[in-house]
Amino acid sequence: MSKQRFDAISQSSGRDRITVAEKGRRSELFAINVFNGERMLQYLTKDALESVKGAIFSGSKIDRKIADQVAEAMKAWAISIGATHYTHWFQPLTGSTAEKHDAFFDLLPDGKALEKFGGGQLVQQEPDASSFPSGGIRNTFEARGYTAWDPTSPAFVYDTTLCIPTIFVSYTGEALDNKAPLLRALHAMDEAATGVAKYFDKNVSKVSATLGWEQEYFLVDKALAHSRQDVLMTGRTLIGHSAAKGQQLDDHYFGVIPQRAISFMKDLEKECTQLGIPVKTRHNEVAPNQFELAPVFEEANLAVDHNLLLMDVMEKIADKHHFKVLFHEKPFAGINGSGKHNNWSLSTDTGVNLLSPGSTPMKNLQFLTFFVNTIKAVDSYEELLRYSIASASNDHRLGANEAPPAILSIFIGKQLSDVLDELEGVSQGKLSPEEKTELKLNVVGKIPEILLDNTDRNRTSPFAFTGNKFEMRGVGSKTNCAKPMTVLNTIVAKQLLAFKKEVDALIDTKNLKKDEAVFNILREYIKTSKRIRFDGDGYSAEWQKEAKRRKLSNNRTTPEALQVLTSKKSLELFKSMGVMSETEVRARLEVELKAYILHIQIEGRVFNDLVYSQVIPSAIGYQNKLIKNVLGMKEIYGAAHMPFSNGPLSIIEQIAEHIAALKKKTDAMTDARKKANKLMDTHKKAFAYCENVKPYFDEIRMHCDKLEQLVDNQSWPLTKYRELLFVK
Ligand code: ADP
Ligand code: MG
Repeated sequence: MSKQRFDAISQSSGRDRITVAEKGRRSELFAINVFNGERMLQYLTKDALESVKGAIFSGSKIDRKIADQVAEAMKAWAISIGATHYTHWFQPLTGSTAEKHDAFFDLLPDGKALEKFGGGQLVQQEPDASSFPSGGIRNTFEARGYTAWDPTSPAFVYDTTLCIPTIFVSYTGEALDNKAPLLRALHAMDEAATGVAKYFDKNVSKVSATLGWEQEYFLVDKALAHSRQDVLMTGRTLIGHSAAKGQQLDDHYFGVIPQRAISFMKDLEKECTQLGIPVKTRHNEVAPNQFELAPVFEEANLAVDHNLLLMDVMEKIADKHHFKVLFHEKPFAGINGSGKHNNWSLSTDTGVNLLSPGSTPMKNLQFLTFFVNTIKAVDSYEELLRYSIASASNDHRLGANEAPPAILSIFIGKQLSDVLDELEGVSQGKLSPEEKTELKLNVVGKIPEILLDNTDRNRTSPFAFTGNKFEMRGVGSKTNCAKPMTVLNTIVAKQLLAFKKEVDALIDTKNLKKDEAVFNILREYIKTSKRIRFDGDGYSAEWQKEAKRRKLSNNRTTPEALQVLTSKKSLELFKSMGVMSETEVRARLEVELKAYILHIQIEGRVFNDLVYSQVIPSAIGYQNKLIKNVLGMKEIYGAAHMPFSNGPLSIIEQIAEHIAALKKKTDAMTDARKKANKLMDTHKKAFAYCENVKPYFDEIRMHCDKLEQLVDNQSWPLTKYRELLFVK
């Protein structure tokens, strides 16, 4: 073990273990740091309360006077619980969150100090936007971007700062963030789904998309993580030989959570609870040191904010417990990576989950309508949905036979497939009374009981129906859920609008009853969207072939997956649904391509550094020891006895071969990088990094990992997998 590694490991022994049971019931702590309905009732005037409610539930504007009152109330409450600063909290296109803290504290012209925070500061701010990516929307000479208050996501106090969730838009009004398009998509979904839900219940006046994410992550000892530049710079281990024991025994998954991780989780859950994040389940995941945390589902915009906040809080709490959290989708080779399932459904203001099969035929027809329309939407825009989860780090996972493949398909289970098959056979046009009864009893009426024991869940499916919601399983653990949620809600909204138009036309022109018209259209959809349904093994080679035959896209890399964003069909979709203008979409593509390039570029640089400053020097060091040994043997026993030295000699040769190959590949990779860097066109550059640079990574790694096995433990400079992964 090298000194560096020894130091790293000994530093890590200063852990604090929290063994005292958590005091107080969680429900009492829930959302105490959130300016939610309860606090508003306490701090706002009646007018202000009504106005904020209007903004939350029907998107009405809050006038400036009222905003002043709200700001005053928020400030009073925040200061009462210890806040000294406030910040607009937003989601720039980099994927994480950003904030700029200002003190409430201000000075009057006469030198008196006071705490100031007015409607102006609440509603709008102008952060220095020039450091955030804009994809060319915002030229630097007019580097103005505005953050604007999103009243639908409540403000909260974190540490000593009042955080106000905001959107981030350019001077000319284009979205520079992930939240603004999501809010627009959710609004489009509300309008479209409410229109359709009214077929079944006139009382519905609002439909909200719901999201329940499941966050997977790794915990690694902080000091050990800090001893590896690849983990620090890229979030993953670029090299490292597998530990003798991986996840084959599955003992981690079924085992108890290590004490140190439990202490961290308890602290984390307490903090989350106070921030109003309804965390519910925690458990071990498949790989060693891998865990999952899931909350109770919430309205999608709030759920997205809570996920981003959670990731931030996790990093801070982990730090206190001397851990580093890894959100990367594939931090370690040879064991499972991490994802973030997005469970999604639609919920009405009358309290109904539109994707719940319900107990009566009427509710089932409503269920079937939303169920089949979702399938149809995914079929029409499968490639765009694949885009929404693309990233350099998620490329390691999609298609790596541990996460769903890069091909989008839907799993609905055998019983529901049977129901759709039966529906497909329904005759066209008017239904006889017998047919109607039969349909309702045989097809529609069958669903509730069936689903109760529909436990067969195809883990290889990227988009699965799981009883009363769809589960999008390809989302990366690091991804901002706003991206997939924007696309999913936009495409389903678009589909629901088309559906309503068709049903209304049938009712008008063919004089059909509403149920009949609905059945007729659904039957067509079931037929035309069949190719997207797949209940088999998503990991199999046959599926790759079959998917190709079905003309489903199979974009394995991010640069490929991003291309669909600016297709005519996508541009039209975003524009017609009021989600993004062409400028906004094109800007996004530019930002995503650049992020991809940067990601691979950094990995390439770190590889170069690891190889030249750590791996090769230590391999040569050990090789020299062996050479000394061989020479010594020769001196003692003479050349005639050289066969004694066969062992060391062969290791010397193997090391020499790996060093030579390693140098060759690393230099070739650096050359490829230099060539790629010269390209001016972002598209070409991204493809050059993907196709000409990245392929060297596996080869370089292979030689490094072989050397790790050959070189003695003492002189190996990097913390090994077995140390990173099995620290209790
Ligand atoms: P599992 O067996 O897959 O763990 P759960 O019912 O526990 O299934 O749900 C998993 C996730 O799905 C949780 O995060 C939960 O909040 C979410 N979820 C449940 N119902 C809904 C819904 N109607 N809309 C969105 N997410 C939901
Ligand atoms: Mg799940």
